[in-house]
Amino acid sequence: AKSEGRAQIAFATEEFLKDAAMQKRLQRDLAYAIEDEQLHVAFQPIIDLSTGSIAYFESLLRWTHPQFGPIRPDNFIALAEASGDIIPIGRFVLREALANLRHWPESIGVTVNVSALQLGDDMLVSQVGQLLETHEIDPARLTLEITESVLVRNVHSEKIVNEFQAMGVAVALDDFGTGYASMGYLRDHTFEKIKIDKSFVSAMTKPGNSRAIVRAICNLGRDLGALIVAEGIESEADLATTRAAGCTHGQGYLFAKPMPSADVVTFIRTWQRETHA
Ligand code: C2E
Ligand code: CA
Ligand code: CA
Ligand code: CA
Repeated sequence: AKSEGRAQIAFATEEFLKDAAMQKRLQRDLAYAIEDEQLHVAFQPIIDLSTGSIAYFESLLRWTHPQFGPIRPDNFIALAEASGDIIPIGRFVLREALANLRHWPESIGVTVNVSALQLGDDMLVSQVGQLLETHEIDPARLTLEITESVLVRNVHSEKIVNEFQAMGVAVALDDFGTGYASMGYLRDHTFEKIKIDKSFVSAMTKPGNSRAIVRAICNLGRDLGALIVAEGIESEADLATTRAAGCTHGQGYLFAKPMPSADVVTFIRTWQRETHA
């Protein structure tokens, strides 16, 4: 029966994971995942397109299920939100991100994704402040990535975003362009960074309106004083078009896939040698 289950996973992983009974099972198992050390954080570089150097690493959560193997965050973040486990899990990601940051050059920062429930946690601001103090980290090296749906679901989002910015922590508007009211959020909040969703980036090299839209977002970002990060740069063509459109930063498989924390320092060293040779 066990091998049968495996064969099924290999055949249709996403479908299998999204099955209702399976989702219930995953939600139950996730409650033990932290203490059982099944969760870890991978890091993916974000490149400054004007200098070619590494500006940040994005922290991306990974779950290795003891029976089902690696499970993508898209398949379990919503479960953790529903159960409330996202609170301890989010804290874990912040701890890991800042603990790792201490081993990197000071010119490199880290970004952490924050979910709706987490942003609603009254303790979040003071916890981040405490972590920064404990690790003696310049707050400007931390960026919190927040999606529009997070802002929609949190009536106090403006106040919380302001509190982080008052601490010196940067806030990025993630997945820009995929929501319904993106302009309203740019009107009501100040973001240090805007991340353009990869669906626009991958469409830029094809016929259609994406190139004009990305160019307009970049102009808007410049006028608002925000950095513009293009997500999902997979090819040299993606890099050339996003750079030409005015994106200041880029992230994607062309530069590197998310990597285990143990590989980051070596990656930085190799990257610096190759780009500054
Ligand atoms: P996101 O914040 O938009 O993160 C970017 C996603 O794009 C990551 O998927 C990354 O691995 C993937 N990616 C990066 N470069 C490329 C590329 O060139 N091509 C393609 N096709 N994909 C690329 P990942 O790691 O599976 O994460 C999925 C989503 O899960 C994230 O989307 C984020 O919304 C959420 N997530 C991940 N980690 C956390 C976390 O610690 N907390 C919370 N609340 N959400 C998280
Ligand atoms: Ca993100
Ligand atoms: Ca994103
Ligand atoms: Ca996304």
